[in-house]
Amino acid sequence: MKITHIQSQLVRLPVDEPLADGPVTRGATRDFVTLTVGTDAGIEGIGITSCGGTMTSALKAAVDALGELTKGEDPLRVEAIADKLRAAAGASGPGGIFTMALAAIDIALWDIRGKAFNLPLASLIGGFRTRVPTYASGALMRNFPLDHVLKAGRRLVESGFKQMKTQLALGGDANPEREVERIRLIRESVGDDIDLMCDINQRWDVRQAISIGQRIEQYHLFWLEDVVAPDDYPGLASVAAALATPIAAGEYVYGLVPFRHMLEARSIDIVMVDVLRAGGITQWLKIAAMAEAFNLPVVNHLYPEISVHLVAAVPNGLTVEYMPWSSKLYEEVPMPDKGELAVPDKPGLGIKFNREVLKRYGA
Ligand SMILES: [Mg+2]
Repeated sequence: MKITHIQSQLVRLPVDEPLADGPVTRGATRDFVTLTVGTDAGIEGIGITSCGGTMTSALKAAVDALGELTKGEDPLRVEAIADKLRAAAGASGPGGIFTMALAAIDIALWDIRGKAFNLPLASLIGGFRTRVPTYASGALMRNFPLDHVLKAGRRLVESGFKQMKTQLALGGDANPEREVERIRLIRESVGDDIDLMCDINQRWDVRQAISIGQRIEQYHLFWLEDVVAPDDYPGLASVAAALATPIAAGEYVYGLVPFRHMLEARSIDIVMVDVLRAGGITQWLKIAAMAEAFNLPVVNHLYPEISVHLVAAVPNGLTVEYMPWSSKLYEEVPMPDKGELAVPDKPGLGIKFNREVLKRYGA
C-alpha cells in the first residue's frame, strides 16, 4: 500500500457550549486543520490538528508540506514516516507547529492501519475495554457566572454524568476566600457522589497552589490540574507532595521526553496527554506505557472522538475528557451515556468528516 494523495482544510467552527448551554462569545471560532490521507488501496485515513490563535494557516501549511513528503510511502510504516518528517522539518521541531502537524498525519496513518486490518483502533492498539468512563468538560468554566455554573452542574448530573470538571484561579479581584467559596458551592450543588475535577490552567504559583489547594482538600477533588507552569517539574512535585488531592498535568508539554522528567520528578499523580501536542497516537501510546511503568493512570486532553480509543486501549486509562469542541467536524461521534463512552466498533477511528460542515465552515 502506498500513500497517493493528501487533502487538508482549515475549518473554523463557531464556539458553542452544548453540555449545559453555557454563555458563548458571538462570532468566536475554534479553528481546526482537517486532513485526509488517501492510498492506492482505496483506503483513506483522517486526522485533525489545531493550535488556536492566529497561526492556524501556518499550521495548515506545515501539514501540507509534511503531507507532501508522505506520498509514495507505505502508510503502515508510521515510525519510518515520522523519522523522515522529523529530518525534513529541521529546526522547526521538536515542539510547536511541527509536532502539531505531525500529529494530524500520524492520526490519519493509524486510521488507515485500523481500516487495513479491519479493526477499531482501540482493539488494534491494546483493546483493554470497549466502554470507558467520561467526564463533562467545558460547562463549568471560571468565566461563567456562578449561578450558571451551579445550575449547569446539576444539569450535568441529571443528564447522567458522574464526573465533571470546573476551573479555579478566577482572576480579576478574586481572592483565596472566593476561590474556596466557589468550589464549596459547586461541590454542594453537584453532591458528594460526583467526581469533581478542577483545572487551574497554570495560573497559580507554587505557594498559592499549596495554600489554596490545602483549603479545598475538604471538597475532595478527583484531581487538581495544571496548578503551576507545566515545565516547573520540581515546583509541581512540591505541590504534589504537599496535597492529598491528586495532581494532573501534561497537556501543555510537547512530545515524549517531558513526561520522563515529570514522572522522574514525581511531579504528577495523573498523566494527562494531548494527542496533538504528543505528536499523535504513536507518541500518546508511548507516554501511556511510561505512565504505566510508574503505576500512574493516564487521561486524554480534548478530542474525545479520537481519545476514546486511546483511553480504552490501555490498562491504565482512567477517564475520557468529554469536551465536544471538535465533534461537529464528524458525521457521527460517540455520545456520553450514563457517564460512559462506547468505543466505535467500525474499523480505524470509526468516524467520518461531515462534508457539509467542512464546506460550510471551511476557510
Ligand atoms: Mg486543562
